[in-house]
Amino acid sequence: MNANLNLFSLQDALSDYDDNSPLSLAQADYLLKQATLFWLAKAGQHMQKSYPIPELDLSLKGRCAGQAWLEKWKMRFNLQLFQDNRQAFLQEVVPHELAHLIAYREFGRRIKPHGKEWRWLMETVLEVPARTTHRFDVSSSARQNYLYRCGCPERIHPLTIRRHNRIIKGTDYICRDCRQILSFYAYREPETVKK
Ligand SMILES: [Zn+2]
Ligand SMILES: [Zn+2]
Repeated sequence: MNANLNLFSLQDALSDYDDNSPLSLAQADYLLKQATLFWLAKAGQHMQKSYPIPELDLSLKGRCAGQAWLEKWKMRFNLQLFQDNRQAFLQEVVPHELAHLIAYREFGRRIKPHGKEWRWLMETVLEVPARTTHRFDVSSSARQNYLYRCGCPERIHPLTIRRHNRIIKGTDYICRDCRQILSFYAYREPETVKK
């Protein structure tokens, strides 16, 4: 575990990626792993023990941002929601799910999922607001509600209304990977995501 990891380097890692281009699975996995290591080290420091690194997967779909599989010591995340809410995931969703795992390990299965043990881990140990629902930061992502496709399979480019309007007036945007011109296919409603 990298002891030098801090929130600053998490931000740094994030800023290496352009907000308007989707992360590959490997990039998303890397960022979530860095965040997991950071929060795990923070918990370990406070609890004076070292926890095993949880398994991660990015297979969650729909409106659910994250999920903790207690017995498997595993966290699942929603890749699509992560694309659009990167900061919120690293700073809130990852510690939220990790606190479920640690609560289970420290206090057993009889506790309430968002009960006092979990809240203590969030607020005192990880120093993150103990929110149980996520109103994902809409400052950047909700403005990117114009979904475009290119030639890459399964790929979605969320664009802001400003870019969308420029496209309507004749500007072409090109996918850096497949070099195809982006084409509009859907408008997305801003969402509030519950976990
Ligand atoms: Zn929860
Ligand atoms: Zn493409």
